[in-house]
Amino acid sequence: MIVILKPKTSSDDIKKLTRKLEFLGVTVNPVIGTEMSILGLVGDTTKIDPSYIEANPNVERVMHVQEPFKKANRLFHPENTVVDINGQSIGGNKIAVIAGPCSVESEDQIIMVANEVKKYGAGFLRGGAFKPRTSPYSFQGLKYEGLELLNKAKLETGLPIVTELMSPYDIETFIEKTDIIQVGARNMQNFELLKELGKINKPILLKRGLSATIEELLMSAEYIMAGGNEKVILCERGIRTFETYTRNTLDLSAVPVIKKMSHLPIVIDPSHSAGKWWMVEPLAKAAVAVGADGLIIEVHNDPQKALCDGQQSIKPEIFAKLMEELKVIAAAVGREI
Ligand code: PEP
Ligand code: MN
Repeated sequence: MIVILKPKTSSDDIKKLTRKLEFLGVTVNPVIGTEMSILGLVGDTTKIDPSYIEANPNVERVMHVQEPFKKANRLFHPENTVVDINGQSIGGNKIAVIAGPCSVESEDQIIMVANEVKKYGAGFLRGGAFKPRTSPYSFQGLKYEGLELLNKAKLETGLPIVTELMSPYDIETFIEKTDIIQVGARNMQNFELLKELGKINKPILLKRGLSATIEELLMSAEYIMAGGNEKVILCERGIRTFETYTRNTLDLSAVPVIKKMSHLPIVIDPSHSAGKWWMVEPLAKAAVAVGADGLIIEVHNDPQKALCDGQQSIKPEIFAKLMEELKVIAAAVGREI
């Protein structure tokens, strides 16, 4: 619910009204402008009768917000959110590049790939330790050992770690051993997991569900933010459509839509989007051109022997070439990479 105040309402009157509204059990987020100010009410507004608020002489109008998400809504937070991770940021002018293998497979592999992607300009290292596989017989990840190996790679390269959490039982371990916690597409609507992640103070990379709408993605972000953790980074990774040539269909339009609806950073995953290594390059370029705040790319030293997603992983030398070409596109849209 939004309360639009009469022009030139004094700050004293705004404070008094804020207290009254808070008494109704909602949190009040003020947006104070030079001409007009508005108060965003966050919380359960269903029991509030708008005419009670409109009776206040300083209130011009009360509006119900169309979108059911509030904390993630740009209306209440006009500035872009910039998430800080150990001195690096996601959501600012610099496009963040997260790169690494689908899964951590061995110490040699993760350290080799980490060194390579760092050399070519990646700012973050990805690598799955707990893998959400369609088949229970497929490689499930090295689990806790994988987290240890990621930390060895971090020690060597300084790259912050992005890795997927699947169970609320592992949250404490992930707080200690990771820099950004990834919530995979399959868990985007695991609401109990999201609620637990709302209680912590760690950046969350929230991937769009396989058949989730943009609004559903934002509602999942809202679950995390409603708990108090506002460090949410969204990720478009392709959605299920009738097209079967590609693994998923990359919804590039999600970027401008999310930029309009939300202040949260949005990252594109060109690897899971198409499921083909030779499509990573053109899709990554399109992502930068369309205004994405970052990329998460699967890079493997030997894709043919990868234990997971080799078909969509690019080799370090292709990553190197891509990074060079992305610089030109980033500059053309006023960004850095
Ligand atoms: C991954 O990043 O390796 C992954 C499993 O991604 P998604 O959840 O988007 O399928
Ligand atoms: Mn993968």
